[in-house]
Order: sequence, then structure tokens, then C-alpha cells
Amino acid sequence: MLDPFGRDVSYLRVSVTDRCDLRCVYCMAEDMTFLPKKDVLSLEELDRLCSSFVDMGVRKLRLTGGEPLVRRNIMSLIRSLGRHLESGRLDELTLTTNGTQLGKYATDLYDAGVRRLNVSLDTLDPAKFTAITRWGNLEKVLDGIAAAKAAGLEIKINAVALKGVNEHELGDMLAWCGSLGYDMTIIEVMPMGDLGNEDRVDQYLPLSLVRQQLSERFTLTDIAYKTGGPARYVQIEETGRKLGFITPLTQNFCESSNRVRLTSTGTLYMCLGQEDAADLRAPLRASESDEPLREAILEAIGRKPKGHDFIIDRSSSNIAVPRHMSVTGG
Ligand code: SAM
Repeated sequence: MLDPFGRDVSYLRVSVTDRCDLRCVYCMAEDMTFLPKKDVLSLEELDRLCSSFVDMGVRKLRLTGGEPLVRRNIMSLIRSLGRHLESGRLDELTLTTNGTQLGKYATDLYDAGVRRLNVSLDTLDPAKFTAITRWGNLEKVLDGIAAAKAAGLEIKINAVALKGVNEHELGDMLAWCGSLGYDMTIIEVMPMGDLGNEDRVDQYLPLSLVRQQLSERFTLTDIAYKTGGPARYVQIEETGRKLGFITPLTQNFCESSNRVRLTSTGTLYMCLGQEDAADLRAPLRASESDEPLREAILEAIGRKPKGHDFIIDRSSSNIAVPRHMSVTGG
């Protein structure tokens, strides 16, 4: 599937639920209103949608959320999608998770064909972890990550850089990742969703600064490694692991975007930072044939924009995109 800028859209991220068992302060308001359950696609519908994308050339599927592993019966969807790995039509089936449920699911994930996970973790300090997530338990997440490693899953830790919160801890986290054999990605806070009392400007920490601080402790060598994603990677010479930087604000990352995002209600967003979207639920439900769905997908890909502009400053609104990250997944 080629978009108007000649980019081959081969990567689909699917938010399987907008619900989460944590409430990270930069991601959700404390009293979130979640999507009505009746609007959410069934697991069978999600399977049909994902499989249509695979038929049309998607080679990589990432399940996200909300927290994908809190969706009831999620393993039945993951196992079912695993058939596309076996047939060779899909290169990778993976998840982004907060790790709270990994103790329960790590082995099942491996058995279903999952080989790599992104685990979101912003601090190794138990009190800070509880403060950032509003009620999470760090030990449970660390146990979950250890279970995933023991099950044979490769792990990348995703940390959002938060001014005054974890900014002086990122070096220790990088060393921790190195000691356990995990890659790491550091992400700039993106202006998405209303957070109630939290202020984006107070959270925002440019990664240029983070990189400068890390290079006082580690040797960072730029490398050409690409996942087709927005991260730019360096090799950490001291640990031999990779570190990615995702910088939507200081450096627009769209020119190589090969991905689209599906919400749990079947809305396809062609860009994380733009509002234009296509409803795939109506064509999905309108017919048992996949033809109307395929037409709707192609029409949407034909509208994929070149990129987005996030801005965080005091003169502009705090919110560039009104939906929360949990709707489209990170
Ligand atoms: N619950 C799963 C998890 O925690 O990884 C998947 C969904 S979560 C929305 C995906 C990623 O988005 C997490 O790494 C989270 O830290 C990140 N995220 C959420 N809101 C963000 C924001 N406003 N700016 C940058 N990253 C954000």
C-alpha cells in the first residue's frame, strides 16, 4: 500500500482497548471517560481488520492501548494473529505494554509467536513510579519484565523524559538496561489529550538536553539502525546496547513514517499527530465480504498526510491533538 508520498505502509498499530490499569500523569487524566463498550470492536472484528491489513501488505503488527494485556481474552486474539507469522505473511507481531500483566502472560506471548516487547517504564524508583502512574507497583512491573526475559522475549524499555521527575535518572536506567541486555528508547512528551491539572510545559524536557547529559557518562555513537519507526539510534559503547531518541518536538520524524494506527472502535488514524481519520467499523460491519473494507483502507491510505507539527509553548494551547495517547496507542 503506497501513500501519496510513496511511503509503503507496512506497519499497523492497533489499540485493542483504551482502558488501562495505570493512569500515567502525562498520558491520562485521573478520572478518564473511556469509550462505551458497545463501540469497541470485538476480538473477532479486530482479527478480521488486522487480517485485511495483512492481506494488503502490512508486515508488522503492534498491539497497544490503553493497556493491551488488560483486554479480556486478549490471548485469543494474539494466538489467532500468530497464524500470519506461521504462514510467513507477517514478519512481526509485537506489543507495547506497561508490564503489569507480563508475569501472567509472558510464556503465552512467546508461545503465540511474539518475540519482542516494548515495555514502558519511566523510573526505577518505587515511590516515583507510584507517583507517575498514580497507583502502580514497580515491583510487579519489574517481576513482569523478568518473566518476559525468562520466557525468551527481547525487551526494549520505553521511557518518557519528564522534566524534574526522571531527568537525572535516565543515565541510571540506561545502565540498568545495559546490565540486563535491554535496548532503550527515550521519548519526548507529546501534547496529546487533556490532562486535567497537569501542565505540558512543566513536563516537557527536550531530548537534545538529555542526550548531552547522557554523553557526559556514556559514549554515544550514531548508528544507521532503523526500525522504520521514528527513533534515531545510537550505540552505547559501554553496554553494547542501542538507545533510541523519539523527538516529535525538536525534530519532526514523519518523513519515513510507514505506519497507520487503528483505534479499538475501528477508526484509522493515518498520522499520530493529526485529526484526519477514516471509519473502518462501518464497512467492516456492513458486509461479510472484505471488499468494502479494503476499499475504505485504500481510500484512507491515499489521505495519509506528510507529517504533523506538535508545538508546546505557553502562547499556544497545551493540547495539539485532543485525543489521548491511549486512544491511538503510543
Ligand atoms: N499501556 C501500554 C504502555 O504503557 O506501554 C501501551 C499504551 S501507552 C499509551 C504507549 C506509550 O505511550 C507509553 O510508552 C507511554 O509512556 C507513551 N505516552 C503516553 N502519553 C504520552 C505523551 N503525551 N507523550 C509521549 N509519550 C506518551
